[in-house]
Amino acid sequence: MIGIVVVSHSPRLAQAAVDLAVEMVGVNGPAIAIAAGASEGVIGTDALKVSEAIAEVSSPEGVLVMMDLGSAVMSAEMALEFSDDPDVPVRLSSAPFVEGLMAAVVRAAGGATLDDVEREARGALRAKQSHLGDEEPAGRPADSGPAAEHTIQVMLLNPHGLHARPVSMLVTAISAFEATVTVANLRTGKPPVPANSPTALLAVGARKGDTISVAAAGRQAVAALEAVSDLVCKGFGELETTNAPAPIPALPAPQPEAPPSTKAASNRPLGVSPGLAVGPIVRMQEPMGEPGPAAELSMREREAAAERIVTAATSVALAFRAKAVRVNGAAQGILEATALMAADPGLIDAAVSRVTKQGHTPERAVWAAVGEVASLFSEQGGLLAERIPDLHDVRNRIVAELLGRPAPGLPDRSEPYVLVARDLAPADTALIDPKVCRAIVTVEGGPTSHTAILARALGLPAVVAARDAMDLPEGSVVIVDGTTGEIVVDPTDEQVVRAEGQVGRVVTFDGAGATRDGHRVQLLANVASPDSVAAAIEANAEGVGLFRTEFCFLDHAEAPGLDEQVAAYRQVFAAFPGKKVTIRTLDAGADKPLAFVTAADEVNPALGIRGYRTAWQRPELLDTQLRAIATAAAAEDAVVGVMAPMIATVDESADFAARCAAHGLHNVGVMIETPAAAITASSILERVDFASLGTNDLAQYTMAADRLMGELALLNDPWQPAVLRMIREACQAGVVAGKPVGVCGEAAADPMLAAVLVGFGATSLSMSPRALGGVAKLLRGVTLNQCRDAAIAAVAAGSADVARSAAAVLLEPTRV
Ligand code: PEP
Ligand code: MG
Repeated sequence: MIGIVVVSHSPRLAQAAVDLAVEMVGVNGPAIAIAAGASEGVIGTDALKVSEAIAEVSSPEGVLVMMDLGSAVMSAEMALEFSDDPDVPVRLSSAPFVEGLMAAVVRAAGGATLDDVEREARGALRAKQSHLGDEEPAGRPADSGPAAEHTIQVMLLNPHGLHARPVSMLVTAISAFEATVTVANLRTGKPPVPANSPTALLAVGARKGDTISVAAAGRQAVAALEAVSDLVCKGFGELETTNAPAPIPALPAPQPEAPPSTKAASNRPLGVSPGLAVGPIVRMQEPMGEPGPAAELSMREREAAAERIVTAATSVALAFRAKAVRVNGAAQGILEATALMAADPGLIDAAVSRVTKQGHTPERAVWAAVGEVASLFSEQGGLLAERIPDLHDVRNRIVAELLGRPAPGLPDRSEPYVLVARDLAPADTALIDPKVCRAIVTVEGGPTSHTAILARALGLPAVVAARDAMDLPEGSVVIVDGTTGEIVVDPTDEQVVRAEGQVGRVVTFDGAGATRDGHRVQLLANVASPDSVAAAIEANAEGVGLFRTEFCFLDHAEAPGLDEQVAAYRQVFAAFPGKKVTIRTLDAGADKPLAFVTAADEVNPALGIRGYRTAWQRPELLDTQLRAIATAAAAEDAVVGVMAPMIATVDESADFAARCAAHGLHNVGVMIETPAAAITASSILERVDFASLGTNDLAQYTMAADRLMGELALLNDPWQPAVLRMIREACQAGVVAGKPVGVCGEAAADPMLAAVLVGFGATSLSMSPRALGGVAKLLRGVTLNQCRDAAIAAVAAGSADVARSAAAVLLEPTRV
């Protein structure tokens, strides 16, 4: 840094001017020496003092001497004659004393050369002149530097806009980057000025609420813009801590009409799977609890009561059979087996005898009789234990029939309907028949809950966090908008006709993801089982970015054997010869419990033994799975990658890579879905070949918000700037390491967010097949630079909604 000497007639004036300037840079400023006053208390100047001051701050970078007036200039000139060090250039500045000193101190603090500091100081009156309309006719040419590569527009939030201190912070921040940055105030429409010039920045006259356009070119342009965004969004540290204004950074001016926000109010239902549907409401009945105690039946009542059990069981068995006729494949087999269970004479006899011999009510008798069989199944384990949920389903249905209540669980209908439920377990959702179920509405669930994920996979419009949904009258017709979350009850004929006209429109994908300027981004499908592969192929997916293996075994009471696994994995690999298939090892626990590995009594399952942690306790499960993956991969031609879920430490990544290597698996990656993994991504990537961002869990853990809770849906939003920062951290680690980092969480399925992810450096995006077309279309309409600018603006925003609208404006297809 250069040194600065302040020469003044008045020591108090000199000190005050220095105090003012230092205020702008704090402790990071240049060395400053004062040479003021002739002798003790006498106004005047002294060449010797000036010479001593120059020696005091002398630096090989040079010394700039600022003077007030008259003899100060002469004393300084004389002092120059005493300073004979050829290695220290000393320059006398004709700059205005106070303004010049401030400009010089700020520029010097940013590491500028003596020439630059001197030039800056000389132009220091510009801000005042501009403000008072007293500019030089020719003005200072707006040196906007080389053509900008990136531009962002941000709104100033701090109370006084770009005044001295923020300007100083901006100049200092930018000086750390190899980038040429310019700033223009969109309100005044004046040409951009260089952002390394504090005086020029002051002259921009940007006030609170003004939007400035910041352009940057050079190797570190993006980083420089991020730094600017960051400062602006934080209000340069000047936002009041109490009653702070709502941060609304990163909105361009003139303010565009913001795209409709689907998440404006915290208690509004959220659209989580796009599309429109019309249909009558059918509520999913919740299972009844155990029937309460009742008085013993009299001998007279018993025979009729026993008869009712037979009738109810027969009716339930018939209903299962009717359902089995309407489906095929594995589902048909399961339903037929369940029908047999309902009509099982052993079960019926056991219940009947409780009625006839002990005087139990029919419902208590059925409950108890099924309980006995279930305990037996449980003792036997294996395939029998896997049937316990079916047994309970049979019990619940017979009891409901006996009590004259609607059957619990998914409605058994052949007519179209809109399913309304409090919540849906993955197993429920997987059984929904999309040919008759038109849409799903749930009270619970967030945008990344499995209801949402599976609804998207089924192509069903879905709305979650609809708090009052269970109060909607059964049978009433609704229009469900899975994009906006709107539910129109009892719509007019005209509304129905309009909605039906839009039902089922899907954008198609041509099979090669790229931005308008040709930047390739692989667009892949998420699959949950061999059954879901067909949709991925039909949608032209470039491969599979996430194969959720745990979904193959949701109904297993015991761990699947090697052969069963090999068969399941081969089916998926075989569907993508020569293409990428990234298979994830079991992600059991929390929202996806597997009976054979997940403890039923964990207090806090989302923070418990789930994902890769299950391998701590059951390493043999992981080893069998890796052996199965290696066998299946060797038998097929897919380009197989294998990754582990829920990694939190670098050691886990290394451990996983070593286990994979032991099975001959080489394309090894991990999921980044904990903040811990995101912020250590660069170290993790030293151990593995690739990473994939699980933004569903990353949002849940970053925001400390259960992804299944409807009430927290607004927090579980990948547009939350905190989540975006985590994502950016991981993507940048990938860019630096030169290793692929993709995204396979639901964030990738949101077209605008997909572009932001590409801007962060994501190399592939994996999503439910039906989302591919929409994402591909948006990417085709924007350039990589637009994606990067949108990413910068989004990450700098103060809220998810602002991030969304800031990105939306920058991603307009016509912008370049
Ligand atoms: C995720 O967390 O984003 C992810 C892809 O994994 P899952 O949704 O299966 O937990
Ligand atoms: Mg996850």
